[in-house]
Amino acid sequence: MMNIRSWSGLPFPESSRWIALHWTSETPFTWSNDVLLPRGCGRSYGDVCLPSQTAVLCTPCDRIRRFDRERGIICLEAGARISDILRLTIPAGWTLPVVPGTAQVTIGGAIANDIHGKSHHWAGTFGRWVERLELLRSDQRIVCTPCDNAELFRATIGGLGLTGIITWAELQLVPTRSPWLETRNIAFSTLDEFFAITAEIEQNTEYVVGWCDLSVAGRIRGIVHASSFCDENAQSRTPRPSSANLPTLPVSVWTQATVRVANTLRWQMLSRRPIVREHYSQAFFPLDHVPWNRLFGRRGFYQLHAVIPRQIERTGIDRIVARLWEAKLPVPLCVLKRFADIASPGMLSFPIAGTSIAVDVPNTAHASAALKAIITDVVEMGGRVYPAKDALMTALHFQRMYPHWQRLEKLRDRRTCSQFWERVTHVTSP
Ligand SMILES: Cc1cc2nc3c(=O)[nH]c(=O)nc-3n(C[C@H](O)[C@H](O)[C@H](O)COP(=O)(O)OP(=O)(O)OC[C@H]3O[C@@H](n4cnc5c(N)ncnc54)[C@H](O)[C@@H]3O)c2cc1C
Repeated sequence: MMNIRSWSGLPFPESSRWIALHWTSETPFTWSNDVLLPRGCGRSYGDVCLPSQTAVLCTPCDRIRRFDRERGIICLEAGARISDILRLTIPAGWTLPVVPGTAQVTIGGAIANDIHGKSHHWAGTFGRWVERLELLRSDQRIVCTPCDNAELFRATIGGLGLTGIITWAELQLVPTRSPWLETRNIAFSTLDEFFAITAEIEQNTEYVVGWCDLSVAGRIRGIVHASSFCDENAQSRTPRPSSANLPTLPVSVWTQATVRVANTLRWQMLSRRPIVREHYSQAFFPLDHVPWNRLFGRRGFYQLHAVIPRQIERTGIDRIVARLWEAKLPVPLCVLKRFADIASPGMLSFPIAGTSIAVDVPNTAHASAALKAIITDVVEMGGRVYPAKDALMTALHFQRMYPHWQRLEKLRDRRTCSQFWERVTHVTSP
């Protein structure tokens, strides 16, 4: 048994095993009759990264196969991490168009959840930049592109690891000017202000995201972080990676009182720094410098990440925030992001045009009930909850939010399955 968890603390099932893929030429489907699930860095919050039976650790296959510095095309094994890729490509003048809030994510994981970042307004999702990938299925090895084996390609982008093991992928990068970003911190004190600032700033800024303080019921305030790469090397010293080491605390540090203090300090610090120049490792991945998940104690936490469609985004986000206040939940992190009207390539991709809200909440029975009620609201509003972050939605919720799930189920390799898929579709592994 492997003593690992999902990022928010869901335990690896007691009966499950793990094996590791060291070479992309290996075929783990022939090693046993188990039902497998590829696994990257385990940075998914919920049970999409927990196997029904056996996890196949893909991180040892992390080699860069080819990097075309003229055209900005990189071909790499799917266990390669975003941190390693950027370390190679940014000094050569290229970056990944889509990065999440942590650099400890593999290319396989990024494709399988069709991740998005603060660049959604021009880049869309990660899958839009995948040119080719190889899929290892229980009965074949197959190269998929948007044109060849296109249905399997669309099922694999955002396919939650269920169509087989991605062994390598070829990605298109975008040019960049330096490893440094300039970030403007712009304060807002109503949701209307957040929407107005974001809509305007997206016109000429590469990365946009909103941090929101909900710690006082009835008062919303926050900061829009608007960042673009600097034109030249703003500073010459690269920050040393911080090794934030902390054992998991016995209980969560987050109560309504501690959240209020932490948010007040953050608000004061950010309001005093209207413009900041930071290395990309700090600007893109602030949570990699804090042992965030350990602060929630042994019970872990929930992240609810939902998107509300454009037409009703204002009232929808209001409704979710009101529910959070009503339930008196401590919310140490709340992030708002607007998604543009850029079609996502995957059958089960999460982003739709609208606004997304992500909240972290300590795991308690009360939080679980309150968040489930919010998910029901999201479904009614025609929105979606992000499977990569989910531990709470029911099969009914999922199937209404992702009506294409049956197309994925048809293309699922019968020798792959996850705890998530069993939960939301009621399929069972043999
Ligand atoms: C601090 C933090 C911030 C984050 N910010 C964002 C964000 O801004 N935007 C966003 O979209 N997400 C975000 N995430 C979520 C994260 O990007 C995704 O969960 C991502 O998929 C995790 O990748 P992983 O390598 O850890 O994969 P895992 O979590 O191990 O697995 C994720 C899924 O990918 C599948 N998979 C993994 N490797 C392969 C492979 N080789 N072949 C086929 N399938 C595979 C697994 O089966 C599983 O279904 C964040 C997570 C954290 C912890």
